[in-house]
Amino acid sequence: MLALEFPKFDVGRTLTQVRVLRGRRGDPRAVGDILQYLLCVARRCGPNEIQPRVDQDLDGCLRALQDFPTAYQPAADAAQSAFIRRRQTLANRYLTAGTATTLQSLCTMRDMDDRITLSQLTVPDAGGDTRDRFGRVKRKLRISLTDRCNFRCPYCMPVEPDFMPKSQQLTRTELRRLLQLFVSELGMTQLRLTGGEPLLRRDLEAIIAECGNLRALGLQRISMTTNGFLLAKRARALKTAGIDDLNVSLDGLTPETFAALSGGRESAPVLAGIEAAVKAGLPLKLNTVVVRGVNDHELLPLVRWALVRRLPLRFIEFMPLDGRGGWSKERVFNEAAIIETLSHEFTVTKLERDHSPATTYLLDGHFPIGIISTVSNPFCSSCDRLRITADGMLYPCLFSATGPSLRDAMRHGATDTEVLATVRKAVWFKDAGYASHPGYVKRPITMHTLGG
Ligand code: SAM
Ligand code: SF4
Repeated sequence: MLALEFPKFDVGRTLTQVRVLRGRRGDPRAVGDILQYLLCVARRCGPNEIQPRVDQDLDGCLRALQDFPTAYQPAADAAQSAFIRRRQTLANRYLTAGTATTLQSLCTMRDMDDRITLSQLTVPDAGGDTRDRFGRVKRKLRISLTDRCNFRCPYCMPVEPDFMPKSQQLTRTELRRLLQLFVSELGMTQLRLTGGEPLLRRDLEAIIAECGNLRALGLQRISMTTNGFLLAKRARALKTAGIDDLNVSLDGLTPETFAALSGGRESAPVLAGIEAAVKAGLPLKLNTVVVRGVNDHELLPLVRWALVRRLPLRFIEFMPLDGRGGWSKERVFNEAAIIETLSHEFTVTKLERDHSPATTYLLDGHFPIGIISTVSNPFCSSCDRLRITADGMLYPCLFSATGPSLRDAMRHGATDTEVLATVRKAVWFKDAGYASHPGYVKRPITMHTLGG
């Protein structure tokens, strides 16, 4: 840690000793501005002895600066600002060069200390696109409309979920404002409504219709991810409201497997929902999270079921984002294992990977199957997504530990320019992704809040 210490510092009489200190990872050059200031004070204080030395910690320095008599405060502030500027420059250099891939890793770097925060960093002008420091342009926004859900999937929900109070949720006006900014100013072209379970929102069709107004500003696609349990009755209304396509989660066909992965629900309403959506003319994909030992024996039946109906199906590796701490590597039925299983019945041909998070395989040369292998083969290097929770937190990455509250910014009177600056900054410093720090993600937020 970088540091200064003033063990015998007595402003106004004698400055006997100033030590420039550094710990194992420090560099005294970074505190040159402060030292310069101290020299200046020393000159004014009469007899002095400046004694640079390599030793201890920065906090002593900053505390000492804060304790200066009021007369010296402007100079102390200037010295402190100079120090922060220097730290910002270093931080930006490390982050932009990709030497540090996360803010967390930045704090452990040589020349840094553990108090670097997003608010201290500056964002270079990234041009017209919304891009991060790794050059990944953002085009897709996933917005969670609620953290509530009528399922209790063990790979997603905590046993006792702590749902956010309605007052914490974005109001419709706040939601409208954010979506408009993300489309018109930040260039998002695809919007995915998610949750929790978005079909629990009574005003879902009205929200979709409002999103439709954004097409004039550049929005190209409005999609939704749902568990499908309440879909049958609303499929037609969703189509009329203007939804373009759906992803429906379906983790098993037998009552036992379906119940095990939904928290005791039945599959019949979901299957009816899928049928109703097809009838309503809604393009849909099926998503299956595969948990080893729970539903891996249902992969082939699911493929047969989807194939007969010509419904695209994607298998998703179990990600370490569950709300129960139940994830382990051993429970991930990975891409290789999925291919191996499918090979028992089909000829499996891999297609070239595009920008989609899924790798596509053709079964018997004609039926496409997607595999989202976030754990075994992450697609972080081409990630073009951003996420907003129902209470307006921006999560630039599915694995981000936290993000800025756009709701709070708006409720505190932020202008559009200020909201956009907050977003651009969080996006610019988006972490490299799961690939850079694989393993269990410990954080307060779980998938039903983040939206998947
Ligand atoms: N309730 C809706 C649903 O289940 O489709 C939308 C929200 S859900 C959080 C979005 C997606 O995240 C679903 O496809 C779900 O299967 C997936 N998901 C949730 N937890 C997951 C985990 N730990 N690993 C992989 N996918 C997960
Ligand atoms: Fe609900 Fe979807 Fe999470 Fe299952 S995966 S608990 S359906 S939000």
